[in-house]
Amino acid sequence: MADQNAAGLLRITDLELCYQKNAAPVLALPTLAINRGEVVGISGPSGSGKSSLLYLISGLLRPTRGQINWNDTDITKLSEGACDRWRRQSIGFVFQDFHLIDEVSPLENVLIPASFAGWRISADTRQRAHDLLDQVGVPMARKSTSDLSRGEQQRVAIARALLFDPPIILADEPTASLDDAASLVAADTLFSLAGPNRTVITVSHDRDVIDRCKRILKFDKGHLVDDVSRNPAEDA
Ligand code: ADP
Ligand code: MG
Repeated sequence: MADQNAAGLLRITDLELCYQKNAAPVLALPTLAINRGEVVGISGPSGSGKSSLLYLISGLLRPTRGQINWNDTDITKLSEGACDRWRRQSIGFVFQDFHLIDEVSPLENVLIPASFAGWRISADTRQRAHDLLDQVGVPMARKSTSDLSRGEQQRVAIARALLFDPPIILADEPTASLDDAASLVAADTLFSLAGPNRTVITVSHDRDVIDRCKRILKFDKGHLVDDVSRNPAEDA
């Protein structure tokens, strides 16, 4: 785990993504650097390439060209298996629509990444999942995740993203389908994860979420059009 402390530093060069051959790129990013421990918000109109960027930097999507370096690893050069392993160790991904399995318990949902890894789930891992649910304040006793409120479901998804204690948290519109009160709790949970050793990058339309980020990247039509660093406390 020693190198995890050094993780969370992103360097993008000459990045381009085209979903169709010969089509205009949906994302073109000549250069972008994000340092370890930064809390970055990504905003912009629908279709501006925000989700695509998150998928690219998590290695879920391959660029048409360009480099995506997380520390010393250019993830575009990794084989699929190596990229999956790197992602499991490095990234916690929180999706807008949770991506939970409704029929199983919150605990089983938090343990999904361990099941994907094909390991026998150890008592320690199970205990960690338990502690994480406790930490995000989700009732453990429910048999099925569909019995939870939407806000609680998103917090299960956040707990799941933390199972392997990743140095990088990526969230795609994490409060988009929540009411105001649940949004606030989910955002509090998300921002409580930030720290000197953990980089948090969240796409959001939610002003309250964006206002809490120290750096805001604005995208339009696949281009980075603004990059503002600020101290959220000053505006409070
Ligand atoms: P955002 O998250 O900012 O709404 P996206 O990254 O989802 O934007 O999409 C950027 C552009 O890429 C949009 O024009 C969208 O229609 C297009 N796009 C997204 N996913 C695909 C796909 N799988 N195939 C083809 N085009 C896509
Ligand atoms: Mg999107």
